[in-house]
Amino acid sequence: MKDPIHNYKADFPILNKDFQGEPRIYLDSAATSQKPQMVIDAISDFYCTNNANVHRGVGRMSQVATEKYEAARQTVADFINAPSSRNVVFTRSTTESLNWIATGYAAQVLKPDDEIIISVAEHHSNVIPWQQVAKQTGAKLVFVNLDTNGQIDLADFQKKLSAKTKIVSLNHISNVLGSINPIAKIAQLTHQFGAKLVVDAAQSAPHLKLDVQKLDADFLAFSGHKMLGPTGIGVLYGKMDVLEAMQPVQFGGEMIDEVSQQTATWQPVPIKFEAGTPNIVGAIGLAAAIDYLNQIGMDNIEKIEHKLVKQCLAELKQIDGITIYGPQNADQHTGVISFNLMGLHPHDVSTGLDLEGIEVRAGHHCAQPLMQYLGVESTVRASFYFYNTPADVQKLIEAIKTVKEFFEDGFA
Ligand code: PMP
Repeated sequence: MKDPIHNYKADFPILNKDFQGEPRIYLDSAATSQKPQMVIDAISDFYCTNNANVHRGVGRMSQVATEKYEAARQTVADFINAPSSRNVVFTRSTTESLNWIATGYAAQVLKPDDEIIISVAEHHSNVIPWQQVAKQTGAKLVFVNLDTNGQIDLADFQKKLSAKTKIVSLNHISNVLGSINPIAKIAQLTHQFGAKLVVDAAQSAPHLKLDVQKLDADFLAFSGHKMLGPTGIGVLYGKMDVLEAMQPVQFGGEMIDEVSQQTATWQPVPIKFEAGTPNIVGAIGLAAAIDYLNQIGMDNIEKIEHKLVKQCLAELKQIDGITIYGPQNADQHTGVISFNLMGLHPHDVSTGLDLEGIEVRAGHHCAQPLMQYLGVESTVRASFYFYNTPADVQKLIEAIKTVKEFFEDGFA
């Protein structure tokens, strides 16, 4: 176990280096996280010592590669408290997981006039697959609103839930507002109507202790790259009944049982979904990321981030002309903070911050329906991870003040 005041930056080669000759504070972890040496080593070790394809060979290299790939699946299952590693399907990303759920499951069960409920705060990857499935099946896409804290408005949700609802698909944490949705409560309401709950956990898996059994989600999706793992590996968790009912979306080698000229049968879950050579090293890298996160402990990660958010919100509120979107209270907030400054274009603000050595994100954050709901074109987003420090927050605040002065002087 690492102690909570460990210098985490020391574990991340990229965070100990200048970027293009200048120091840089990375505050864009909601887009993608940095990688600790332990993950980089796991990837490199596999290629240097054990590279072979999985589930195919009888050779020892292939057998050990298969053991490592399947051990990675078990590590993921344990991390989210899945009943078994069979509940874990490896995909490319959250986006791919959500697309497979929409195409492989929802499109098979939805009928005209059935309803799919999502929220106005979903990432495009939890909007567009449902738009497509709705078009394909004649089902209707229904949007639930937010309360003043940026969470799902449970009263509005209950109004919209009905016997017509077949799928509810919501984020656990908003990638724009940092607000946390009460998933266990939402699951209970959803299941009262016999509907299935899909959870987009892209922003929660890296930051909270996930327990899929307590959350009672039917499906849950997340990406390795936002939680210290490599890009190109994602997770689709499902309860066994829905995974059994779900059709594979891709076809080819590995996923078949028997093939004749005109027909084929599938392997059991989860292999029936993983056509072709999977991202073996991605899975191994993700398992190393989870081992590293477990060394710190998800509780400690939450505590570290909470302190940073508390400090940042308190400091931001002192700056005249700042509008903070989402919860105003740190207790309801994760490490994603969206704001605008004095009606300035967020790209101007983030360019100014970039010149001050601060890496943030500006734009619609792949959530245009949310921008429309908030009545803005875009926002600036600073997002923290446990490797950020109070000094990083202080530098962000100073840089925002510098940018503000620059534009005030420019307008004077
Ligand atoms: N959902 C949410 C809430 C996200 O924040 C993101 C990534 N920004 C995604 C889905 C999509 O993740 P990926 O690009 O890794 O598929």
